Amino acid sequence: MSGTVLIVDDLATNRIVLKVKLSSTPNRVVQAATARDALRLAAREPPELIVANTRLGGQSAEAFLRALRRVARLARVPVLMLQSAPSAAERQAMLRAGADDILARPVPEALLLARLRNLLRAHHADTDLATQAGDAAGFAETQATLTLPGRIAIHGAGRAGVRALRSLLASCTPHRLSVAGPESAPRPGPQDALILRIATGEAEAGLRLLADLKAARDTCQCPALVLLDRAEAALAVTLLDMGADDVILAPADREELALRISRQIERKRHTEALRGKLRSGMAAAIRDPLTGAYNRRHALPWLDRQLSQAVLGRKCLAVMLADLDFFKRVNDRYGHAAGDAVLCAVTGRLAAHLREGDLLARIGGEEFLIALPDATPARARRVAERLCDAIRATPVKVPGQPTPIPVTLSIGVTIVAVGPGTPVPDMQTVLEEADRALYAAKAHGRNQASFCTRSAA
Ligand code: GH3
Ligand code: MG
Ligand code: MG
Repeated sequence: MSGTVLIVDDLATNRIVLKVKLSSTPNRVVQAATARDALRLAAREPPELIVANTRLGGQSAEAFLRALRRVARLARVPVLMLQSAPSAAERQAMLRAGADDILARPVPEALLLARLRNLLRAHHADTDLATQAGDAAGFAETQATLTLPGRIAIHGAGRAGVRALRSLLASCTPHRLSVAGPESAPRPGPQDALILRIATGEAEAGLRLLADLKAARDTCQCPALVLLDRAEAALAVTLLDMGADDVILAPADREELALRISRQIERKRHTEALRGKLRSGMAAAIRDPLTGAYNRRHALPWLDRQLSQAVLGRKCLAVMLADLDFFKRVNDRYGHAAGDAVLCAVTGRLAAHLREGDLLARIGGEEFLIALPDATPARARRVAERLCDAIRATPVKVPGQPTPIPVTLSIGVTIVAVGPGTPVPDMQTVLEEADRALYAAKAHGRNQASFCTRSAA
């Protein structure tokens, strides 16, 4: 379903004209005549976009923007300001106060709609990411990074124009600027933003360059800001719909340019922070919080994949179920917290005897699933015995306990060896075999590894 666009303007005629322009879009339009009404409406139901006049009937549009940005749910709602008379100082003030863009009236309808589409697209991508990362407000973490200088590469077909732009910006931004060389030149490394300079007569080359930058692996995630000669102004709509994140007409006020660049860099950092949060959330979801070992959610699909790869590659896979012996007694004698500490220490010791690429997962209270891809039966036996030794040999020191706690481990092992004509067991069967072997290890006195009879044969 399409979202709501909030129009804020004290003049009814302006609101009506804008509403008519927006009638061709799928958005629902709501209106407010004052900043106070707008804030109240927006706080009740956050709109997907706000279009506001810079004159709000004597009220300060700057104060409106700042108040809006202070509300967590509204902090990142895109805001497009419309100014009645051009004023560089007003443009800078609005951008500083948190506007995403400012256009001077009369705004050609095609440009207005392209800008709205562009802002909405970026906002939807942001909110989707924030939802996945579990960060509905999603504002706090980027504040600290706002002042750090970023890296900006300036691209363009005309070398002289690109260099002139670099000199202009060097005096007004804290960011590190580089001029992107021709295709064959070495890449300048990861960037926080790109500026694309399109001078008169460079329309075709400029469009191609933007398309290439938005498709290339190392630049596709970078915000791209286009500085366009007035003679090529008609290109702005196409550029915005092609994924340019901002388009400014030259000659631009360099303060405004600097503010817009900083805004793009802040947006990129916010997106990166959300991606990082999403990644760590996903990483945490497959780990057992007590021991840090993988959990069942990771281990079972992993095992399933390994089994199908073993089938394809005709390789061996050793699967072990390891269970601490008489662990209930450990809890009974030393307390649950000591039991937890033992579980952590045991996990560390098991991990120390495994290789990268092996699996160690805690799949039950004191039960671990261990799997060794590409292990020969001889290596599997060696590893299983070493794991039992590693747990038995040294009682676990636990803070607060006067003496180290002795524990032992029993392991059931099965080996999946796929050869010509050998049927491939499914995961359930493999786990049952390992479980039967574990039962045998327990029955034969615990503190030992036992092999599934098929594997041992
Ligand atoms: P066996 O040698 O037959 O495996 O005996 P056991 O005592 O280890 O087995 P049992 O299944 O009877 O008990 C397992 C115990 O593991 C019971 C429970 O208190 C303990 N346990 C399970 N999860 C945790 C945990 O997260 N922390 C602690 N401290 N103990 C746990
Ligand atoms: Mg046990
Ligand atoms: Mg158990």
